[in-house]
Amino acid sequence: MSCIFCKIINKEIPARILYEDERVLAFYDINPQAPYHILVIPKKHISTLLELEEADKELIGHIYLTINQISKDLGFAERGYRVVVNCKEEAGQTVFHMHFHVLAGRPMDWPPG
Ligand code: 5GP
Ligand code: ZN
Repeated sequence: MSCIFCKIINKEIPARILYEDERVLAFYDINPQAPYHILVIPKKHISTLLELEEADKELIGHIYLTINQISKDLGFAERGYRVVVNCKEEAGQTVFHMHFHVLAGRPMDWPPG
């Protein structure tokens, strides 16, 4: 498996891991775009949001609850945060293992570039 995020899940390459359970992994982005930039990924390899299946519905809810918990633990829940999922090349996806960017700690522009 050549997927870089699967390698992080399997501890074949290092990452600054924040949270892990049987279904998800959360770690700091290597190239942060905000004071807090965390990636939350399913342990199941799903290449893009378009590959989601009915059976993944609960997993997605679990990812969002994990994001909420991280925002409270790291102290940016009160100020707020942004969640971004880039789906395919035109949206800016570069790693084809679906991931949820969690950005916080500065005011965010809208619309995104
Ligand atoms: P995308 O552009 O696919 O939405 O986001 C991919 C993200 O993964 C980027 O923000 C990039 O900085 C991050 N990333 C790529 N390779 C690694 C890595 O090896 N470790 C970590 N922690 N983040 C990575
Ligand atoms: Zn993967």
